[in-house]
Amino acid sequence: MARYDELTTKNIVPFLQDIFERRGGEEYLGEPVTMAEHMLQGAKLAEDGGQDEEIIVAALLHDIGHFTSEFGMFTMDDTEDRHHEDAGAEILERFLPSVVTDCVRYHVEAKRYLCATKPEYFNRLSEASVHSLNLQGGPMNADEVAAFEKNPNLKAIIKVRYLDEAGKKADMETPPFSHYAPMVQRLVDAHCK
Ligand code: FE
Repeated sequence: MARYDELTTKNIVPFLQDIFERRGGEEYLGEPVTMAEHMLQGAKLAEDGGQDEEIIVAALLHDIGHFTSEFGMFTMDDTEDRHHEDAGAEILERFLPSVVTDCVRYHVEAKRYLCATKPEYFNRLSEASVHSLNLQGGPMNADEVAAFEKNPNLKAIIKVRYLDEAGKKADMETPPFSHYAPMVQRLVDAHCK
């Protein structure tokens, strides 16, 4: 498959689908779903909830950066999970609008934001998510909250964060990636025309 620097508007969607199909069965650490199930559940919940295509696609791709080794853009010193949100946004930003890539780039920060601003949100977090919250810096402080709220895509970012939390169900049927491929391609074509 194509490396990061060989990706085009024509091969980016097959590239992403190939990652889902070959690597999607890997476990999502500490959760009762695989990586592909987790992202497909978020996309399906967004679709069933009548969300915009940007939100559906952002939920579908938000953790694609877990597969950084597929991109040929990182050094061997990187651990697989390190800054997966930046890696994911970086691979997508040439092809998708900023509302999508911001949802990917800030989905970890959104957790820190919601923990600081919505006390009831913390109770939604899975055990693994609470554990990683601590590694990620804990809840935001007031300055970080104020800075985060300046992002024009804040609402979309929060929506995708809730979908991230919701997509961890042990027994949920979803369509395969191929169901969403035409939607992703539509957004790529609209963004890159
Ligand atoms: Fe996730």
